[in-house]
Amino acid sequence: MNVADSERIAGWYENRGWKPADKIEKADEAVINSCSVRQSAENRVFGLVNNLSKIKNKNPKFKIILTGCMLRYPLADLRKKLPGVNEFKKISEFLLDSKFIIHNSSVHAYIPIMEGCNNFCSYCVVPYARGREKSKPLKEILCEAKELVERGYREITLLGQNVNSYGKDSQISKSKSKTKNFKVPFAELLKELSKIEKLEKISFMTSNPWDLTDDIIETMSLPKIDRYLHLAVQSGNNEILKKMNRKYSAKDFLALVKKIRQKIPEIKIGTDIIVGFPGESEKQFQETVALCRKIGFTKAYISLYSPRPGTGAFRLKDDVSYREKKRRWLILDRLINQHVF
Ligand code: SF4
Repeated sequence: MNVADSERIAGWYENRGWKPADKIEKADEAVINSCSVRQSAENRVFGLVNNLSKIKNKNPKFKIILTGCMLRYPLADLRKKLPGVNEFKKISEFLLDSKFIIHNSSVHAYIPIMEGCNNFCSYCVVPYARGREKSKPLKEILCEAKELVERGYREITLLGQNVNSYGKDSQISKSKSKTKNFKVPFAELLKELSKIEKLEKISFMTSNPWDLTDDIIETMSLPKIDRYLHLAVQSGNNEILKKMNRKYSAKDFLALVKKIRQKIPEIKIGTDIIVGFPGESEKQFQETVALCRKIGFTKAYISLYSPRPGTGAFRLKDDVSYREKKRRWLILDRLINQHVF
């Protein structure tokens, strides 16, 4: 999502006649698109602002602009903690017609189809950083996809924190006055996009197990839909899943994967896993390992649990040591990503 937002920021500047500087020292402005998902990502912003401030000392006209998820914090606090930043701008302030977005590839483009999340998984800042789910109108997405195809793009990835629940909310529109309630299921969106001639491949992320309904699975078998599915499991232990506020059990997840594979046998499935969630015992971790063995994920983004202020899990004691988290990370990384069994 942040990559797609950065493409929009680049387009916003170029549309105003700016050009990317070949060296940061030659730039007039630097925009930092921050991520809040882990503490380490926020720490990097502090380091980056410090480094960029050195350029400001040599070139007083140089401006540092901060945008992205860190803007969830009160502005007064940000100003105090990041005195080197000249401007704090919400992502929505880089409003841009989709035809001006600068995509990093000439064949593939991202299309954000919704913003925010309603799920409040206990470890996650997204609902606080990006707000509640708001879907882009179907018409706007179709227009954007058709425009991209006319410009030569052949592959799109639909983006959202929970794409399967697309359309269950009120829509977001470039013109706020057009906002009204609508219901367009995600399966319908996939079917409509599939009809676009010359569009060859449609991918989407991220999917959550509890919203992956039968009609979506049915639609996923359409020939243009990517045969890779990213389905976050997070843990293979029911108690930990409950503490994470995930709405399924390990058994439910296995049954869902079985159903998907029955319908689309060639599908590859990737996942997200968090190791070292508060209270995760060795036995509970081993249940995650066992589930991963059973499923045979193609790849996994494995995170070491990091407490995030404001989230439900922040109240729980972060009692798995860094060393132990790293050990568990290595076991899963070797098992899933390096295929060492
Ligand atoms: S569904 Fe994803 S984005 Fe939403 S709260 Fe859970 S982990 Fe965060």
